Amino acid sequence: MDKIPSTDNHIHVDPINGEGPLEVALKFQRSGGTSMIIPNKPTWTVSPECDFTEAMELVIGYVDEINSETNVKAFAVVGAHPAELSRRVEAGMKLGQAEELMIGALETAQNMVLEGRAVGIGEIGRPHYPVSQEEMEAHNRLMVYAMELAREADCPVQLHTESASEEQYKEFAEMASKAGLKKEKVIKHFSGPFILPEENYGLTPSLIASGDVIRQALRKGKNFLMETDYLDDVTRPGAVLGPKTVPRRTRKLINSGLITEEDAYQIHVERPEKLYNIEMDF
Ligand SMILES: [Zn+2]
Repeated sequence: MDKIPSTDNHIHVDPINGEGPLEVALKFQRSGGTSMIIPNKPTWTVSPECDFTEAMELVIGYVDEINSETNVKAFAVVGAHPAELSRRVEAGMKLGQAEELMIGALETAQNMVLEGRAVGIGEIGRPHYPVSQEEMEAHNRLMVYAMELAREADCPVQLHTESASEEQYKEFAEMASKAGLKKEKVIKHFSGPFILPEENYGLTPSLIASGDVIRQALRKGKNFLMETDYLDDVTRPGAVLGPKTVPRRTRKLINSGLITEEDAYQIHVERPEKLYNIEMDF
């Protein structure tokens, strides 16, 4: 095997609705993947009774499994997806009460980071679908709070939001300032090619690893992470890119001369190690 690193910065594993941690990690490994950053899936994908702590504990267990059974280095990111709030409100819970639950979940996530069991808080953020102004304000408060917790724990947040361009990046950067969190520690998950400082306001874009997005990005710079947002859900096979995408894309980019092996090391090892305070032993 060549010595080219590949980190998927946002990939899910799900033994309930999909193939599960080992199958996904082995596919990733066989295609040359070296490291996976894995956010927990929402509670409702586990069971109707699942609570936030259980959903987060599950992903930490999957990460342990991958680390002991494969050569992939896996890391957990824990948090409460914005749709968790929406679903509770839709089900009739008072907004204030749902927000309190989300606050508790974020604090649990921070604890897991402080204990060294997870490396970031996410995915957190706000909905990609329309909600009431009142609810949107709650999401925005929760985002700032999550960033404050991340500052205390010296870890990054992974943001799930509506599709974002300069205007949203600017707004998220202002939230980071308010929370005192370094801008680069705000990782925009599912990002388009917003590479220039005047496009991303210092946040870290985690680019969807499609050929199009990556090539557009590379015309402007190399300051990004790569991800698939793979869901590991058999009922939604084509929803996102497959688990082999990041390692394959990385090799294609090297073979076509668009990046060097040194660039790949920057994108897949150096940058994530610094952002998450981790050692990939690559
Ligand atoms: Zn996700």
